[in-house]
Amino acid sequence: MHILIVGAGLSGAVTGRALAEAGHRVTILDSRAHAGGNCHTERCPETGVMVHVYGPHIFHTDDAQVWDYVNRFARFRPYRNRVKTTARGAVYSLPVNLHTINQFFGRTFRPDEARAFIEETQADRTITDPQSFEEQALRFVGRDLYEAFFKGYTEKQWGCSPTELPASILKRLPLRFNYDDNYFAHRFQGMPEDGYTAMITGILDHPGIDLHLDTAYTPGHASRADHLFWSGPLDGYFGARLGRLGYRTLDFERFTASGDWQGCAVMNYGDPDVPWTRITEHKHFAPWESHEGTVCYREYSRACGDEDIPYYPIRLVREKALLAEYETLAATEEGVTFLGRLGTYRYLDMDVTIREALDTSAAFLAGSAKGA
Ligand code: UDP
Repeated sequence: MHILIVGAGLSGAVTGRALAEAGHRVTILDSRAHAGGNCHTERCPETGVMVHVYGPHIFHTDDAQVWDYVNRFARFRPYRNRVKTTARGAVYSLPVNLHTINQFFGRTFRPDEARAFIEETQADRTITDPQSFEEQALRFVGRDLYEAFFKGYTEKQWGCSPTELPASILKRLPLRFNYDDNYFAHRFQGMPEDGYTAMITGILDHPGIDLHLDTAYTPGHASRADHLFWSGPLDGYFGARLGRLGYRTLDFERFTASGDWQGCAVMNYGDPDVPWTRITEHKHFAPWESHEGTVCYREYSRACGDEDIPYYPIRLVREKALLAEYETLAATEEGVTFLGRLGTYRYLDMDVTIREALDTSAAFLAGSAKGA
């Protein structure tokens, strides 16, 4: 079969590879000049630092198959994300852990004491089934920590009140009553030594895959294929005919300096009057390298316009209703499979994206074998 894939990010590359390995002829288009989508990395010519061009990406998973898969295409170096946050004139450790609690409340609690303190004096136990981001925060950390670390940051990041956002967004972050400040709780964590673009280029490097960068999709492309995998925005496929699904986009103010600018990879800013959400210093994502210069990104979030790059699906009530309408349309679209963060309009981490692309291509291959 001749398969067309729109998008050379993780979804498109993993799907393309699986189908090419099964003997199909695969064409992949991407309107950008590079593969890798928003995972794209490139070295800064001035400093030599590997830059996460569309913001930080840290690989973490509990899925041993996905971990094996990425290790086929890249050498992974150990990397632990240790995030700090600046709020109310002090620097704290994230995710909220025993150090954060002791520092914030000026205490010297041991784990059980901290747990009891939060549960008995901070948490709002009248909330039995938290629905919104705010309810989730008030139920588990209480108002004081919520207002210092989450409320302002979340308003900046999402452009709306945390009362309107689903609890699932906060559930991404652990709450710990020990001094473990590893941002992620997953078994496998690391960073590809040569960056994500090298890894994804490796996935795409198969004789059955024909990659066309700088190539915008037109319906003419699909007419020459037996099946289309679409990893672009779901609403974009339908010409936004039911309306636009809302995204947040990011602006990065990039600056270089010498030495070590902030001493860590990610510094969040919890205060509402600081306009950026975080500053990332990219050489700290590759602690095994040594560079005299440094590259930082000051990160700002805003509503995504038609010409902007979509990053985060917003998924508020309005979007969810519209999404359901697009999903109905998508289900009736013959010969097309929608995949990935944009194609299914979900806040997906890289490992889940890979897992879904592997599963989707396996299901497609099983179906086409049956149909043959
Ligand atoms: N968040 C917050 N304060 C922080 C870090 C995160 O309020 O200092 C909230 C914010 O709403 C964010 C969500 O927690 O969107 C998930 O955080 P994560 O670090 O997973 O976001 P990502 O790195 O994917 O942007």
